[in-house]
Amino acid sequence: MEYGTLKNYIGGEWVASSSNEILDVHNPATDEVIARVPLSTAEEVNRAVTAAREAFQEWRETPPLVRSRYFFRLKALLEEHFEDLARTVTKEHGKIIDEARGEVRRAIENVEVAAGIPSLMMGYNAEDIAAGIDEDCVLQPVGVFCCVAPFNFPAMVPFWFLPYAVACGNTYVVKPSERCPISQSRLFELLDEAEFPPGVVNLVNGAKGVVDALLTHPDVAGVSFVGSTPVGKYIYATAAAHGKRAQCQAGAKNGLVVMPDAPLGPTVAAILTSAFGTAGQRCLAGSLVLAVGDVYEPLKARLVEAAARIKVGNGLDESVQMGPVVSRKSLERILGYIDKGLQEGARLLLDGRTVRVEGHPNGYFIGPTIFDDVRPEMTIAREEIFGPVLGIIHVPDFDAALEVLENIPYGNAASLFTASGKWAREFKYRLRCGNIGINVGIAAPIATFPFAGMKQSFFGDLHGQGRDAIQFFTDRKVVITRWF
Ligand code: NAD
Repeated sequence: MEYGTLKNYIGGEWVASSSNEILDVHNPATDEVIARVPLSTAEEVNRAVTAAREAFQEWRETPPLVRSRYFFRLKALLEEHFEDLARTVTKEHGKIIDEARGEVRRAIENVEVAAGIPSLMMGYNAEDIAAGIDEDCVLQPVGVFCCVAPFNFPAMVPFWFLPYAVACGNTYVVKPSERCPISQSRLFELLDEAEFPPGVVNLVNGAKGVVDALLTHPDVAGVSFVGSTPVGKYIYATAAAHGKRAQCQAGAKNGLVVMPDAPLGPTVAAILTSAFGTAGQRCLAGSLVLAVGDVYEPLKARLVEAAARIKVGNGLDESVQMGPVVSRKSLERILGYIDKGLQEGARLLLDGRTVRVEGHPNGYFIGPTIFDDVRPEMTIAREEIFGPVLGIIHVPDFDAALEVLENIPYGNAASLFTASGKWAREFKYRLRCGNIGINVGIAAPIATFPFAGMKQSFFGDLHGQGRDAIQFFTDRKVVITRWF
């Protein structure tokens, strides 16, 4: 077993969990068990939060310039171990190695931005708010924060939050996904090597029990959650009931609108990456194509022809273009959605269920799957499938496409493909959706912008990354001064 039984990182030490609930972590391409992950106890959560609380005072008094230097050291270590981190992501998640490299790069970008904390955290002031009276606003760290992460970006997602929280002077606890927990263990080895003071960053492996212990712990100030909508709602409500701030980035159902004037070559390429990249397991994945008017027939033909050529296999093989899905359970759920689509009257143009990968008889593989004759009220058009399944809806015009998107309960991402500035402007102006792509299939914000989301895709006020994160992880204090 390559990675052994994972430990927790608490107060600057690696400690074995005392829990007797331990899960296997499989490599989705081979079904091999590559690690075991403990579902830690509430007592272990308490120890991590206590270590974080005890480290807080000294860390908040450490000048931001000094705090930022830890992130420069961390950045150098991340670069040094870049390829190994990417391979770890592929082994536990299944995504192809190039996508894993992209993920690790995104994690590093957040470290780079957070290293700018001396200026990011500056306050502001105004003289003479009344005669002889001045007013200052300062940003101060709050205390202990934590994050609860999903399986699909096991290296990156905690890094939408941890670097900002810690750079601001808070201390931190990460709860990785129990399905893909290895990358965070590797990253914490590097946080350890960067010599963050003991207790500033902590890692507790586990599942719902760990989450509940964090959400009800009196010393936790706030939580950043990324995952599915039902769990996001639960976390938001539970955090609020315990007086904590919360930012909950949740599930998605993303539409890709293609206008008749869109250039088909680059549009098809962008749709394929959006729908089948990471085997459709991205919260920004496009899973519905809304083909407007005459573009429907040629677009459909080109999509099916190109998707059928996507090479499916083990993501460590550089020639592979799509890896497996994360687990057997996910595979079964996706197959269930395909059955549902057929029952509700959609027609399969490309059936990924027949895909077999030579030399990998036990992997959780399913090929690109495309449905035609999808109607907006069908389950496959409304629910998040989180697999490589794309539905095509034929709509008469731009307004009809927008109406379909508006009626989807989620508001995470949407893209428009067009050569017309007018339609592009209408799209970005009117649509209630957090991440909008214009001739871009995956509208993933870089680290200096918030990772947005609306409707059932986000619960909270401030998102992860960039300035939003700095606000989430600080208190504002206003000081009004008069001298006699
Ligand atoms: P998930 O909701 O099953 O799990 C997310 C985290 O919540 C895990 O750490 C898990 O241990 C914990 N959890 C699960 N059930 C819980 C419960 N009942 N109580 C408390 N904690 C619980 O999500 P997932 O399957 O790991 O990830 C996929 C989902 O994440 C998709 O819906 C995807 O759209 C979403 N996602 C959203 C974004 C975004 O930014 N909006 C980004 C990535 C993924």
